[in-house]
Amino acid sequence: MSGNAARVQAVHQITNRALIPPKPPERLEDIWAENVFNLSKMQASLPKAVFKSIKNTIVTGEKLDPSIADTVALAMRDWATSKGALYYAHVFYPMTNLSAEKHDGFISVQGDGNVISEFSGKVLVQGEPDGSSFPNGGIRDTFEARGYTGWDVTSPAYIMETDNGSTLCIPTVFVSWTGEALDKKVPLLRSIAAMDKAANKVLKLLGNANVAHVNSSCGAEQEYFLIDANFASQRPDLLLAGRTLFGKAPAKGQEFDDHYFGAIPERVQVFMQDVEETLYKLGIPAKTRHNEVAPGQFEIAPFFEAANVASDHQQLLMTVLKHTAKQHGFVCLLHEKPFAGINGSGKHVNWSVGNATQGNLLDPGDSPHDNAQFLVFCGAVIRGVHKYGPLMRAVIATASNDHRLGANEAPPAIMSVYLGTQLEEVFEQIKTGTVTESKQKGVMDLGVDVLPHLTKDAGDRNRTSPFAFTGNRFEFRAVGSSQSVSGPLIALNTMLADSLDWVGNRLESELANGLELSTAILTVLKEVMETHGAVVFGGNGYSEEWHKMAVDDRGLANLRTTADALPTLKEAYIEDLFAKTGVLTPVELASRFEVYAEQYILSIEVEAKLVVNMAKTIIYPAALEYLAKLSSTIASLAGLGVDFDKESAKKIADLTNAMVATTSKLSTALAKHDFATTENKMQYCAQTLRPLMDEVRLSADALEGEVADSFWPLPTYQEMLFIK
Ligand code: ADP
Ligand code: MG
Repeated sequence: MSGNAARVQAVHQITNRALIPPKPPERLEDIWAENVFNLSKMQASLPKAVFKSIKNTIVTGEKLDPSIADTVALAMRDWATSKGALYYAHVFYPMTNLSAEKHDGFISVQGDGNVISEFSGKVLVQGEPDGSSFPNGGIRDTFEARGYTGWDVTSPAYIMETDNGSTLCIPTVFVSWTGEALDKKVPLLRSIAAMDKAANKVLKLLGNANVAHVNSSCGAEQEYFLIDANFASQRPDLLLAGRTLFGKAPAKGQEFDDHYFGAIPERVQVFMQDVEETLYKLGIPAKTRHNEVAPGQFEIAPFFEAANVASDHQQLLMTVLKHTAKQHGFVCLLHEKPFAGINGSGKHVNWSVGNATQGNLLDPGDSPHDNAQFLVFCGAVIRGVHKYGPLMRAVIATASNDHRLGANEAPPAIMSVYLGTQLEEVFEQIKTGTVTESKQKGVMDLGVDVLPHLTKDAGDRNRTSPFAFTGNRFEFRAVGSSQSVSGPLIALNTMLADSLDWVGNRLESELANGLELSTAILTVLKEVMETHGAVVFGGNGYSEEWHKMAVDDRGLANLRTTADALPTLKEAYIEDLFAKTGVLTPVELASRFEVYAEQYILSIEVEAKLVVNMAKTIIYPAALEYLAKLSSTIASLAGLGVDFDKESAKKIADLTNAMVATTSKLSTALAKHDFATTENKMQYCAQTLRPLMDEVRLSADALEGEVADSFWPLPTYQEMLFIK
C-alpha cells in the first residue's frame, strides 16, 4: 500500500469495529481474590499448626520453617489444580523493569515411565531457571549461568488466566549460585528489614514498650496511554521503542484541558472494567480510575499495600493492562513520553512506614506523643532525601524518564522535599529554636510537652515537587510510568534505615547526657534541619529560579540525564550506605550500575537506528513521491506558460535535504564504538546521539506539515490520540 492507504484502512476498521459488549458487572465481594492463595485459603486448607507458622512468617518476615513446605505445597497444588491450572511458574523480577517466569508442569516422570502429579515443598521453595539470559552486570559468566529462584512467602501465590490456560504463579527471589541478588525483590526485602531494625530502636527510645515489625507501604498511581492497535502496528517506533520518534503536533492538543476528568470513552470504559475485574480476582485493590491530562491518557491507582506485595502487584498490573488492551484492540503504552509535546506518564509512588502497634509512623496523629514520633520519622526522611537525593535521582533514571524529568510537566531532576505550609513552618521553628512562640496560629499545642502539636491536615498540594508530603505519606512523583517501583522503594527504605539509625544513636547519646526525651528530640531535629534543611522547598519546582537557587545557593544536585545520574551508584558514600544497611554488597551494587547503564545505552542505540531507518525508508520516499508530483505539475504548467508556485516544492526539497544530511550524520555517529568507559558511552548517547535524533525529527515533522496528507504513510498524532 502506498501513500496513506493503510492509514485510511485503519481508520475505517476502527470506526466500524463492533464494540466488545461490557460484561454484566460482577459483585466485588464475589470475585475478590478468587485467584489468590491468600491467608484465608491457607487457613481453610492447612493444618492449624502449619497455618500458624506460615502466617507468622508472612506477617513478621521471619524465616520460613522448611518442614512445613511440603504440606503447603500440597494444599497450594490442590487449590490450583481445582481451578484448572496445569502448570506452575516461579515468577521473578530481574534487573530490567519486567517480570520473568519459568513454567513447569505439575507432573513428574517416574522410573517406570508413568507420570504422577507432583508438586513438592522442594519445587515450591526453589527453582532453577536458565539465568544466563537475564542481565547480571558481570556477576556470573554465561557458562556458569546458574541462577536460583526462591519462594517469597510474604507475597501470595496466584493463578494467572490467559488464553492458553491457567498457571499457578509463585512470586520468588532470584539469586546467583554464589548468593548474590540478581533481582529487585531481594534488595527490597533487605531494605525493609534494615528499616524495620532501625525503626524499632527509635520507637523503643521514644518510650514504646511494645513494638511490632515495621513494614513499608506503597500505593502506586499508574498513568498510561491507549491507542488503537491498527495504528500502532503501522508505527515501527511504537512497536520497537514504545514511543513515537516522529510526529507533528496536532492542531488540537491538550490545551483545552477538556480530557482530564472528562467522560471516559465507552470503549475505554469497557476495557477498564475488564482490567479491574482481572485485578480484583488477583487480589489487587484497583481503586480509582480517571482520564489524565493528555488525550488518550488514563490512570489507575490501586489502594496501598505492604511494599513487597504492592511491588509484585504493580508488575502484575502492568502485565494485565497490556494483555487486556490487546484483547480490546488497543495497545497500552507505558512509556514515559510516547508523544512529543503531549504530557508524559509517571507513576506516583506513595510511600510510608508503619506497624501494628504504632500505626502509620508518618501520620501526625492526635496526641502530642504521636506528633513527636511523627516529627522524628519525618525528620529522618528529610535527612535521607538531603543526603541521598542523588540516589533517588539515580533509581528513576532511564532513557525514557529523561524525557519527563525537568520538562514543564513533571517534577524536576532536582530532589527536594515538599512539606506543606504548616509542617514546613514547624520544622523552620524547630531549626531556629522558637517552637514555643507559634501558639497563636492554633497549630501548636505545647501541653506538658515542648513539642509542637500538629493539626491534622490532608496537606496542601504542590504538584511541582518530586517528593511531597501528602498528609500521612510521601509521594515520590518523579518515578517513571514503565518502571518497577522496587528501585524507588529500595532507595527510600534504605535511606530511611540509615537516617533512623543516625537518629537513634543521636537520641541515645542525648538521653545519656541527661536530656529529657522531648528536649533530646528537639535537639536532634534541630541538628537535622541545620544540616539538611536545604532540601525542604515549598515553591514552584518548575521555575528557572528554583533550578538556579537549588544548585547555586543550596548545593543540591541537578542530574539532568541518566548519563549524569547513574554514576551516583558508583560513589563511595552510596556503596557505604548499601553495605552498612546490608541491602546490597559492593559487588551487587556495581553489577546494577552495569545493567542499568547498558539498558540506557541499548535503548538509545535502538531508537537512533530506528530514526535512521524510518527517515530513510518511510519518510524520505513519501516526501520524494509528493515532490515528484509537485515538480511534474510545475513543469507541465510551465509548458502551458503558467508560472506555478515553486515555494512548496522548494521547501520540501530543502527539508528533505536537511533530513538526509542529519540522518547520515546520525548514521555515522552510531558507528562509533571505541569508548574508554561505560560513563563515556552514556554521555555520548546523551550528548551526541539524542540531539542528532531530535535534529532529524525536526525536519521530518516539518515535512509532515508540507507533504499532502494522502501521501503520508505514518498514522498521525491526531489519529492516534483522538480516534478510539
Ligand atoms: P492523588 O491522585 O491525589 O495523588 P490517589 O487517590 O490517586 O491520589 O492516590 C493516592 C495513593 O496513595 C493511593 O494508591 C492510596 O492507596 C495511597 N496511599 C494512601 N495512604 C497511604 C499510605 N499510608 N502509604 C502508602 N500509600 C498510601
Ligand atoms: Mg498522586
